[in-house]
Amino acid sequence: MTASPIDGVITEPARTLEVLARADVLVVGSGPGGLAAAIGAARAGVSVLLLERNGCFGGNITQVGVEGFAWYRHEQTQDSEGIGIEFEERAKAAGAAQPEPQSDSHALDAEGFKNVADDMVAEAGIQPLLHAMVVAPIVEDDAIIGVIVESKSGRHAVLGRVVIDATGDADIAHRVGTSTRKTPLEEMQAASVMFHMTGVDKAAFIQGVKDDPQTYLSWAGADEWTVETTGKEDDMFSPWLSKPFDRAKDAGHIPADLKTLGGTWGAISDQGDLTYLNLVHMPEIDGTDVWSLTKGEIEGRRQALMAIDALRRYTPGCENAKLRNYGMTIGIRDTRKLVSRYELTATDVREQGRFDDSIGIFPEFIDGYGILILPTTGRYFQVPYNAMVPSDGVRNLLVTGRSIGGDQTSHAAVRNMMCCTVAGQGAGVAAAVAVKTGRDVAEIDIAAVQTELKRQDVRLW
Ligand SMILES: Cc1cc2nc3c(=O)[nH]c(=O)nc-3n(C[C@H](O)[C@H](O)[C@H](O)COP(=O)(O)OP(=O)(O)OC[C@H]3O[C@@H](n4cnc5c(N)ncnc54)[C@H](O)[C@@H]3O)c2cc1C
Repeated sequence: MTASPIDGVITEPARTLEVLARADVLVVGSGPGGLAAAIGAARAGVSVLLLERNGCFGGNITQVGVEGFAWYRHEQTQDSEGIGIEFEERAKAAGAAQPEPQSDSHALDAEGFKNVADDMVAEAGIQPLLHAMVVAPIVEDDAIIGVIVESKSGRHAVLGRVVIDATGDADIAHRVGTSTRKTPLEEMQAASVMFHMTGVDKAAFIQGVKDDPQTYLSWAGADEWTVETTGKEDDMFSPWLSKPFDRAKDAGHIPADLKTLGGTWGAISDQGDLTYLNLVHMPEIDGTDVWSLTKGEIEGRRQALMAIDALRRYTPGCENAKLRNYGMTIGIRDTRKLVSRYELTATDVREQGRFDDSIGIFPEFIDGYGILILPTTGRYFQVPYNAMVPSDGVRNLLVTGRSIGGDQTSHAAVRNMMCCTVAGQGAGVAAAVAVKTGRDVAEIDIAAVQTELKRQDVRLW
């Protein structure tokens, strides 16, 4: 490397890299989007490599500890069908899920789901590659043909005939020069350091919840929160927690001006584990900026300890509880989105958008940017394939999961994990069809994709 004494930059010399692995479809990132993409592609009959920078598959589920997989589901909900439902069913069957308190769903066990994901990857015949961080795309003749990874083994190339960017941050699209847009810092959804507690007296905790039940309207009362509902959500039960923090502020245990504590608890086990504590919400953390991530991790852990102290003091059943663990990484909700061939709109997700290129459905569940709408009426929208196809840049690239194209309100719908699995499965199947027919993903026969998705038990209409 050559150091520049003038402006602190260095020039990295070009080097020749060994090809570590190759497959028809290369999926980067293994969250709900990437995991579903890899399984969908493999089931459609092509070779698949699933590449992940951390040591387990599952993305936010296993790495952040986001367990509320389908907490939107109520009696009238017309739910998605496909691999996402399998995630929940497989987790239940493996004892890696427990009833979720506010819905007709199960919360996934963030730890147990690591094994569920391992099993599903192995069963689908997917080549797994963990501990490999993608640092650059490889482009030839305007087509992406693979990525460069850094790992403990060194720097290598990994090749794919189609590349699916499921990094959550549209990392590949961004680095390859495809148009993406990032939410302005001051509008970004908050970042959260998630944690789980142990040693909770379940009976006392549940009694406390019953004695002082919280509703979705309670969210609106808290410091930082505004919440727009349709009205039908207001009186429904919510596992909301903010009163302990108010009391701790009044008593001087938490600084009175700290507005970042408050949120939801996820599930409580018979053994006294209170998990998926989504209680620290920090604004203006940019998940694509390493200094911002560093600040968020350290500040988030500091605030989590304050939250635990308040819970121990003021929440029935938590008197003897303690921290069990943090997620492996800070939880980031909102960074880059693809500028896609079709951009989903607020109207699409609020008014039952319908598309000829539907790859699946998701119920009318909007959660983010101050809007909370629950699917209690049977309404749903279709997810269009073209929201994953770049509007410019290279061939052979799809972007799936939470980074698919659309406006802010649509993101508040499609970012939800079940919807990420719908988009992911659609991307995986489309990539497989592209490989089999020798076409670019932008020129694919969408009817062939829909036929294969139906064969995979996905509901399209
Ligand atoms: C704190 C928090 C609470 C949330 N609560 C809920 C909830 O209750 N219900 C719900 O449905 N949704 C919730 N969400 C949203 C949801 O978790 C995400 O929108 C969803 O997980 C996105 O899925 P994804 O597959 O697009 O990306 P992710 O789940 O973020 O997965 C991306 C994967 O890509 C990997 N990766 C990234 N970059 C690279 C790289 N360069 N090289 C290799 N691998 C890479 C990551 O390690 C990760 O495994 C929450 C999010 C947060 C942060």
